[in-house]
Amino acid sequence: MNLTASQLFKKISKYEISASEDAIKKAYNFSKKAHSNQFRGSGEQYFTHPLAVANYLTQMKLDSSTIITALLHDVVEDSEITIHNIRDEFGTEISKLVDGVTKLSKLDLKFGFAQAENFRKLLLASSDDIRVLLVKLADRLHNIRTIDGIKNEKKRSKICFETIEIFAPLAERLGINAIQRELEDRCFAILKPETRDSILKRLKLIYSQDESNIPYITKEIETLLKKNNIKCYVTGRIKSSYSIWKKMQYKNLSMDQLSDIMAFRVIVDDVPNCYKSLGLLHQDYTAIMGRFKDYISAPKRNGYQSLHSSLIGPKKTRIEVQIRTSIMNEFALN
Ligand code: MN
Repeated sequence: MNLTASQLFKKISKYEISASEDAIKKAYNFSKKAHSNQFRGSGEQYFTHPLAVANYLTQMKLDSSTIITALLHDVVEDSEITIHNIRDEFGTEISKLVDGVTKLSKLDLKFGFAQAENFRKLLLASSDDIRVLLVKLADRLHNIRTIDGIKNEKKRSKICFETIEIFAPLAERLGINAIQRELEDRCFAILKPETRDSILKRLKLIYSQDESNIPYITKEIETLLKKNNIKCYVTGRIKSSYSIWKKMQYKNLSMDQLSDIMAFRVIVDDVPNCYKSLGLLHQDYTAIMGRFKDYISAPKRNGYQSLHSSLIGPKKTRIEVQIRTSIMNEFALN
């Protein structure tokens, strides 16, 4: 990670007009100095890590306090600098955030896997500011992206296991699907490489048998809804290898019995059109019993809303469909 302080600032200033270049530069140089004699497992300068975390959070368009916190997140734990120094230099808001992240990192070490669910609850409860959790998740994501730097195989597995048990579900709870999926997929590749390979091979086979399935089904759904005067935007994808494996474990199914290797998303203008679209799909295709979920009427705990159903869709293929408005979609993808 070779990003200068001004390049980092430029990224932030694109979405936060009032961001201060001086504040970003100060945190950048402060962190760089504090970590100057430290190196990562890969041999890289340690500072590349907080910088990469900060950079990732700019992609999520988080405010400059969060970016500064990301730059400083390991300073108190790994150097002589205390939280009081941080408060004196950067003020109360930043010091509270950095303190929150430092405390979460200490919790990591104390808890065993048996209490994963308790630990997740504790994480949620102990951060009254969601930005603390976001920095922690981005921190974990970068550690996983660079896990090859850790040579000890046992340590690698422990980190991946903890990530799948605690941090991926936390990301899911917060509605950050991109982080959840990447954490799961990377850890799955390390924990169960053969299983993952065989699922990927099967997926490839299924996909190559009829490569045009996804665009074809997408078109079919679109045509059906548009014929009924519903403005819509439909996308399709093959599910991730980890989510397929999880479902196989959970429901004790073989790959052939899985109903929803393909998932389609239907975006419409408003709530009445969500239900109307669902009705039309259920009229034209057979719904698979027990698979319908109405998260519009009863949202998930993180506020996620959508209608989910599984169908025997076009070409007699079993598919999963998610129907939601564009506002719900923005919420789900953030
Ligand atoms: Mn870190």
